[in-house]
Amino acid sequence: DAYIGAIEQANPRLNAYVATTPDRARVMAKASDGKLAQGQGGPLEGIPLGIKDLFATKGVHTQAASHILEGFRPEYESTVTANLWRDGAVMLGKLNMDEFAMGSSNESSYYGPVVNPFRAEGSDADLVPGGSSGGSAAAVSAWLCAAATATDTGGSIRQPAAFTGTVGMKPTYGRCSRWGVVAYASSLDQAGPIARTVEDAAIMLTSMAGFDSRDSTSVDLAVPDFAAAVERGVKGLTIGVPREYRMEGMPAEIEKLWADGLEWLKAEGAVVRDISLPHTKYALPAYYVVSPAEASSNLARFDGVKYGLRVTGKDITDMYELTRAAGFGREVKRRIMIGTYVLSAGYYDAYYVKAQKVRTLIKKDFEDVFNEGVDAILTPATPSAAFEIGDEALASDPVAMYLNDIFTVTVNMAGLPGIAVPAGKDGRGLPLALQLIGKPFDEETLFAAARIIE
Ligand code: GLN
Repeated sequence: DAYIGAIEQANPRLNAYVATTPDRARVMAKASDGKLAQGQGGPLEGIPLGIKDLFATKGVHTQAASHILEGFRPEYESTVTANLWRDGAVMLGKLNMDEFAMGSSNESSYYGPVVNPFRAEGSDADLVPGGSSGGSAAAVSAWLCAAATATDTGGSIRQPAAFTGTVGMKPTYGRCSRWGVVAYASSLDQAGPIARTVEDAAIMLTSMAGFDSRDSTSVDLAVPDFAAAVERGVKGLTIGVPREYRMEGMPAEIEKLWADGLEWLKAEGAVVRDISLPHTKYALPAYYVVSPAEASSNLARFDGVKYGLRVTGKDITDMYELTRAAGFGREVKRRIMIGTYVLSAGYYDAYYVKAQKVRTLIKKDFEDVFNEGVDAILTPATPSAAFEIGDEALASDPVAMYLNDIFTVTVNMAGLPGIAVPAGKDGRGLPLALQLIGKPFDEETLFAAARIIE
């Protein structure tokens, strides 16, 4: 009831939820009360969660914040959310996001932008919560849910967590099932939690993760009890500091935070080592070839026939065109066009194949440093703190917006786990975060190191 009340009060301003399910939440919570009274119940029994609008929830609003999925109510439940309900969690509703998870500011949503609960000191300008999981991050930050599901293709869990002072974990590719998660770029997409503490994120990921025969890329590995790793410490671990992440023009506050983070880890017994990831500068351009390519293929299914919106036309081709013209927003159309272009017969080798080769090199950079004894890598999470909604320079220059992902996309390209953890505030009181990158399927080390920083 407290969370439902908080949503009613704050959501008209923050726009974090696109649909709420208070009746269902109360029924689920009552059932949890019953179980807990009998000394039973799962690890998340009665915990109220928000769910990103990208996850299919049976019979409940699932539109990926797009007009083209207008009215879509799936007949099925995503594996990740089914795992959460199995463990006793309660659903409060569906969270706003960038349309089809394409964006870094939550401004591409059909439902309008989400407002960051933080404001710069002495300013009343509304700031973005980051994206694409902006609703998830804002809702957790403003106490409109205990924790939330999110997804990350190039930074969409970690960047919004960084902008809102929350913890965001993108697990290793294959750790969580993608079944029932609306696909953006299938070889990069992963689900993960946004929570208020490292421990909460660890508890939630333990429930979300696990093999699923319905997703051929989910990995058949036992899920550790991630919460048990949180207090493990970092004594004896080697933390790598990649030279290539020292970007020119990086704000001094972020430089300082990064140095502070290294000191905190050293004070707990970690060894810090400079490393090189030489192909870093190619990650962002390669990502913006691979991800639109996969998106253009994945989004071909939204044609007015099977799901959501249909605008009738004089024949079937006309219906497809009218539906897609009316149903997709600007950024999604831009990605479909870029993706179609880089996959087209004349350009496939020059762009798509080349980007896949670059991706292999990026992956190898990480393998090399891990083989040389590095246990985890510390970097800033984002190149800046949250920026204003409607920023002219970013709105008119999509490439400037894409630069937000500079520290996060490498992790998706290599399929690695990454966590964003709040580490301090800038001079205006806005949250800043650091990112830890780990070896494949070693989320435990990231939780332990992030716990030292939070
Ligand atoms: N901002 C990146 C993009 O727009 C990443 C989004 C995401 O991780 N889903 O593609």
